[in-house]
Amino acid sequence: MNHSHKYTIGVDLGGTNIKSAILDQNFQVVIERSDPTNALEGPAHVIRTIKGIVHEMMQHQQIAHENISCMGIGIPGLLNPKEGFSIFSPNFPGWENIHVVQEMKKDFSFPVFIDNDVRVNLYGEWYFGAGKGLKNLVLVTIGTGLGSGIVVDGNVLYGTTSSIGEIGHMNMYREGRPCRCGSSGCLGRYVSAIGMVRTLVEKLESGRDSIIQTWVDGDRSRISAKMISDAYDLNDSLAIEVMHETGGILGFGLANVINLFNPELIIIGGGVSAAGDRLLHVVRETIRQHALKLSSNACGVVTAQLGGRAGMIGAVAYAKNQLEPRAIP
Ligand SMILES: [Zn+2]
Repeated sequence: MNHSHKYTIGVDLGGTNIKSAILDQNFQVVIERSDPTNALEGPAHVIRTIKGIVHEMMQHQQIAHENISCMGIGIPGLLNPKEGFSIFSPNFPGWENIHVVQEMKKDFSFPVFIDNDVRVNLYGEWYFGAGKGLKNLVLVTIGTGLGSGIVVDGNVLYGTTSSIGEIGHMNMYREGRPCRCGSSGCLGRYVSAIGMVRTLVEKLESGRDSIIQTWVDGDRSRISAKMISDAYDLNDSLAIEVMHETGGILGFGLANVINLFNPELIIIGGGVSAAGDRLLHVVRETIRQHALKLSSNACGVVTAQLGGRAGMIGAVAYAKNQLEPRAIP
C-alpha cells in the first residue's frame, strides 16, 4: 500500500449502527464496516466503540495517523459543530453535552469535525449522489423520524443554533398527535416509520381490516412500515389508503418547504424512502396542486442514490470542506 497518500475517515453514528469507512484521496472506500451502537450502554461506551473501530480500520489497512488528513462524524440530534460537542440526542440515553471532538483528540492527532446526521447525509447526496452539481436542494430523511438538510445558493444552511431544517416539527394540525418536542400535530408524527404504523393501527382499531392483521397474528405491536409497503403491492386497500394519506401530508409539508426555499430538487432518503413511488406520486401531485406554481414547476422530487452509505461518505466530504473550503468541486 502506498502511504504517501492522504486518507480520510467518515463515521455515521446511528441509533442502531455505527457505519464507518476510510476513503482515499479520490473518495473511494478502502475499508468500511458497520457495528452495533449499543446506545443504551451510555455515551462513554459509544465514544469508546467509535475510537476502537477507527483504530482497528487504520491497523487493518496499515495506515498511520500522519496519513489521515481528517475525520468527520455525523451525529443525530442537536449539536454545536463549531465547538465540537453534541448537545442532546433523543435516542441516546445520558447523551448531554458530550464533547465528541475533544474525546477523539485524546486518541487521534488528525483534526475531527462533527455535524448533524441529516446534514452529513446531505453532503453525501449533494457531492456524490442525486444532488450532484446543484446549487439549491433539500434532502429529507424519513426513517424513525423526519429531518432535512438545506442548500441555498450553494451554501448549506445552519441557522442561529445549528438546528435549521427540523421539518419533522412543522405543525400540520392545531390539535394532533402529541410530539416529544412538547407540541402536537407535528409532521414527523405522521410521516415516519412510526407515524405510518400509527395511522394504520388507528384505522384497524376503528374496525377496518387489512392483510397485515394476518401477517402479525393480530399482534399490532409487530406491524412495521415495510409491511405497509408490501401490503400496498398486494393491493390491500387499507395499506393503499395509509400510503396515500402519508404521501398527502408529506406533500403539504414539502409544498411549504418549496415555497420557503425554492429548491430545484428535493431528495427523499432514509428507510421509508424505500417505498419510492408508492409514496412519491401522491407527494408530487399534492405539491403540484398546493405549492406556488413558479417554484413547484422548477422542483423535482426524487429518492436518494447512496442509500445507507450517504452519511459516512458525506461526513468525509464535510470534514474535508472544514479543512479546506470548497475542497470538493
Ligand atoms: Zn414536534
